Amino acid sequence: MDFDALFNTQLDALREEGNYRIFAELERKCGQHPRARNYHEGQERDVTVWCSNDYLGMGHSPVVIDAMKAAIDANGAGSGGTRNISGTNHQHLLLERELADLHGKENALLFTSGYVSNWAALSTLGAKLPGAVILSDELNHASMIEGIRHARCAKKIWRHNDVEDLDRKLAECDPDAPKIVAFESVYSMDGDIAPIAEICDVAEAHGAMTYLDEVHAVGMYGPRGGGVAERDGVMDRVTLIEGTLGKAFGVLGGYITGSAALCDFVRSFASGFIFTTALPPAIAAGATASIRHLKNSPFERTKQKRQVARLRAQLDAHGIPHLDNPSHIIPVMIGDPVKCKFISDTLMDNYGIYVQPINYPTVPKGTERLRFTPGPLHSDDDIDLLVDALSDLWRQCALARAVA
Ligand code: PLP
Repeated sequence: MDFDALFNTQLDALREEGNYRIFAELERKCGQHPRARNYHEGQERDVTVWCSNDYLGMGHSPVVIDAMKAAIDANGAGSGGTRNISGTNHQHLLLERELADLHGKENALLFTSGYVSNWAALSTLGAKLPGAVILSDELNHASMIEGIRHARCAKKIWRHNDVEDLDRKLAECDPDAPKIVAFESVYSMDGDIAPIAEICDVAEAHGAMTYLDEVHAVGMYGPRGGGVAERDGVMDRVTLIEGTLGKAFGVLGGYITGSAALCDFVRSFASGFIFTTALPPAIAAGATASIRHLKNSPFERTKQKRQVARLRAQLDAHGIPHLDNPSHIIPVMIGDPVKCKFISDTLMDNYGIYVQPINYPTVPKGTERLRFTPGPLHSDDDIDLLVDALSDLWRQCALARAVA
């Protein structure tokens, strides 16, 4: 059988729809975030990155890099095993304590990524709690959806951020069934924020536990970077908070936090925790340093908010339409995969601006967009240059402007 022909048929279909993905080939320049060199197709040019999830530039922070270097010198490269068989290092425990403290929980459990933490925790909770029902927000991330699918328990999808719909769906469940309400705080593609307190009200009224993905909020919101639940003063009401170490904390890894029993339960039953090599100690040391720093330093968050507000104001002044939301994510809607890629390519080729086109299946077809994530290290000049470039392109492509 010609397997390559089978693969190519489907890849060609992606290309025809304009949904075939082409990656930039970046070389990040330490200490120069958001600058990088793009090696894509041998073109080699310096670019300013406008779509990084290293939201606060912590991946280049001397605090983090020094901690990682020291840990490599002290502990070497890898962890040496799975957590169960010789891979649990002192650095992992220090990090888990730091995370538990960040979210005001008894304990935390590390995973190799945020994706794995959602997949492993949700699949374990759904599969191992007898008669469990998972109630999932309809816009939850793929990692949560995969975890829920793998749990093979009953599930209900509630309308995005719609507390009344959640209430109705919870009322349909067996009152004695263990119910898990799974949702995110900051939704990464639209940048909207969940009403966490109201969701907790409804979940508590039905005796359900809450599972909150704060991947796009940890490090970013709340006085110590504990996320939107910290900002809203409701961390103690959320049963399980999940997060990543790979975005605002600038490193790699994922985690859950919750009661000691909950973390022990997932530790003991989740195959995605048990059967994989533990994170290198240096990664854990870097993450711990990053979290500690952001617990005490509001500087990065303050500067980042300023740059987000500045970019929004400039886009408004030039009539470039963007989704109105209360977060740090600025989606500029294009609504067509081919145009979206054209604008992204032109920004790269003519202006040295890198923003990846976001297309299906990350977002529904017809809602293709450019997703900008201004950070504290984007200068005012960077913002002016970006908005001037977008304005030129809007003119060239005859795209509709927003009316002030
Ligand atoms: N949860 C959400 C909402 C995400 O957007 C992502 C990744 O973008 C993840 C989880 C996975 O996190 P990680 O990148 O650490 O695997």
